[in-house]
Amino acid sequence: MKISGTTQIVGVFGFPVRHTLSPEMHNAAFEAMGLNFCYVPFEVPPDRLPAALEGVRALGLVGVNVTIPHKQAVIPGLDEITARASLIGAVNTVHHTQGRLVGDNTDAEGFLKPLQALLGSLKGKRAVLIGAGGAARAVAFSLAAEGASVWIANKTPERARVLAEDIIGAFNVERAWAASLTETAALQEILTSADIVINATSVGMYPHHQSPPAIPPEMLRSGQVVYDLVYNPVETAILRAARARGCATIDGLEMFVWQGAIAFERWTGRAAPVDVMRKTVAARLRP
Ligand code: NAP
Repeated sequence: MKISGTTQIVGVFGFPVRHTLSPEMHNAAFEAMGLNFCYVPFEVPPDRLPAALEGVRALGLVGVNVTIPHKQAVIPGLDEITARASLIGAVNTVHHTQGRLVGDNTDAEGFLKPLQALLGSLKGKRAVLIGAGGAARAVAFSLAAEGASVWIANKTPERARVLAEDIIGAFNVERAWAASLTETAALQEILTSADIVINATSVGMYPHHQSPPAIPPEMLRSGQVVYDLVYNPVETAILRAARARGCATIDGLEMFVWQGAIAFERWTGRAAPVDVMRKTVAARLRP
């Protein structure tokens, strides 16, 4: 990479940020496309977020990704957010365009991309979502917006109920259902008729990759699509078990790469070299 007088800067705001794989992924993509861009990690403490956003304006950064713990806190500092980000209540990508900071949620679109590539339209599909944290929220709203029904089960059932109620409120229909992970009979029943099963918990993530999956894999059946948001390792215990039971699978690396690819396209106006991005990140992860 050659930094020159015309290099354009993008980056990521997080706290901490040192574990991020985004700089390598985006810089490899810029290099592959011959674009004079550079992606930099910025460790921004929560109380410095407003100043950091002013920095985006003052320094003329093209945009930033925003990660934990800033995804909600960033919203009041922006000039505009997309309808999707507003619905989810979280922003992960900011584009500095025509003097304005515009926030979007590319996690949502990045989640949908590989799922739609496999299934086509999600209208009328039944999805069981395990988890009710930040990532689950983006997933639940994306699925509901595409016309899928969403059933949510979470370790803390109250969080699942809140998310389900938010979805019902946002879409003005009864499309969500919530339970605790310990209600195994109810869980088994809804899983039987599910088309899509998503793990949006952190269960299975390195260094706890040997832990049992958040739901017993015996509850899965052949023909379902099992999607794990965890991307390190790429092949998690639930995905391995799902494949053995005849399910189609999508790993968290796909979602990670696509959320990055969509941000890349916003910032550069060019189609992202998705294969280069995937290969770069995969080389840094446990298989
Ligand atoms: P989060 O907000 O902290 O939520 C964590 C979720 O995991 C909650 O639902 C939590 O349940 C559940 N959980 C934690 N420990 C559990 C356990 N032992 N058994 C069952 N459930 C448990 O985290 P997040 O940001 O949503 O991230 C969740 C996962 O998605 C992480 O692995 C993250 O790396 C991954 N992710 C991937 C991508 C991607 O691009 N592939 C993007 C975003 C996130 P409680 O509510 O009961 O605590």
